[in-house]
Amino acid sequence: SKQIVLASRPDGKPSADNFKQTTAELSPINDGEFLVKNQWMSVDPYMRGRMKEGDSYVPAFKIDEPLEGGCIGKVIESRSNDFSEGDYVLGNLGWREHWKSSGEGVTVVDPNLAPIQSYLGALGMTGMTAWVGLNKIAKLKAGSTVFVSAASGAVGSIVCQLAKAKDCRVIGSAGKPEKIQWLKDKAGIDAVINYKQTDDLTAALHDHAPGGIDVYFDNVGSDHLEAALDTMNDFGVCVECGMIASYNATTPPAAPRNLFKVIGKRIRMQGFIVRDHMDDQNEFIADMAPLVKGGKIVWEETITDGLENAPAAFMGLFDGDNLGKSLVRIG
Ligand code: NDP
Repeated sequence: SKQIVLASRPDGKPSADNFKQTTAELSPINDGEFLVKNQWMSVDPYMRGRMKEGDSYVPAFKIDEPLEGGCIGKVIESRSNDFSEGDYVLGNLGWREHWKSSGEGVTVVDPNLAPIQSYLGALGMTGMTAWVGLNKIAKLKAGSTVFVSAASGAVGSIVCQLAKAKDCRVIGSAGKPEKIQWLKDKAGIDAVINYKQTDDLTAALHDHAPGGIDVYFDNVGSDHLEAALDTMNDFGVCVECGMIASYNATTPPAAPRNLFKVIGKRIRMQGFIVRDHMDDQNEFIADMAPLVKGGKIVWEETITDGLENAPAAFMGLFDGDNLGKSLVRIG
């Protein structure tokens, strides 16, 4: 069975030689276990943190061992009472063709409710991250002005639409013309900044939010956070979800240089990890279902075919290759 292992730890931007494809012998399953053939796997920015030495908020990947991450597969053999052959399951052993399990941390998903891969995206971890950040961390109020960075990505695209559904004014930033178009036409947000074509992000944000912003949903950090702090209204909130601009940095980022503004403006900055909020999953689904049904939430997937191309899909996250959720379809 094929798998992708960590060959070496990246210094700066990850490259192809940090990954290696190997094969693993499949041992027979024991009583209580089942065997899964993966069909989809997720690539996510947080995996960059796990490629480093030393644990971040998740343990580091080990050299010569397969990487891990969200995946959806089909049970092809079972000696378990809870998982049957033919079940589609959500697990955390991506980056490989097969895995066996006794069921811990594995959930069955319903392929009739939504395409199975959406349980890795809008209806899964990244969608829930958007929802938790806005509802539980920002405690978003209708009518607020919200700025979202990496706005066309897996998390950002859902943040934008959830905020629109709450009658907020939404300003997004993204790095490609087709992403800007999607955010305007499909997500229906109020203004979009192409940050790669803007010399002065702070000035651009001021232009689009002359009355200031109330909430900043941060996926990027760095210059985006600096612009947000500058434009933030008194008692505004920075939801610290991610800081992708610094994940590959070999020296600490220079921005935000204006962090002192959190004092005068009494800004609340709060980081969060979606995993801490799994008890709210039913509330998340109950909130999302009518919005999805009513067409208020739509999403895109950028699909890469073949396990062997998973490293390229992962590396593409740092080049902005993906619109919406980046997924790998495993043949
Ligand atoms: P995305 O689908 O948003 O993909 C990453 C995107 O980030 C790229 O497409 C690119 O879009 C943008 N980007 C990459 N490098 C830079 C840069 N240097 N400056 C600005 N933008 C950049 O990924 P996710 O939606 O999965 O994740 C978004 C953020 O949320 C990440 O920071 C991630 O770590 C975080 N996260 C946090 C979680 C939590 O529990 N706290 C859970 C899940 C995700 P563009 O073309 O616009 O540059």
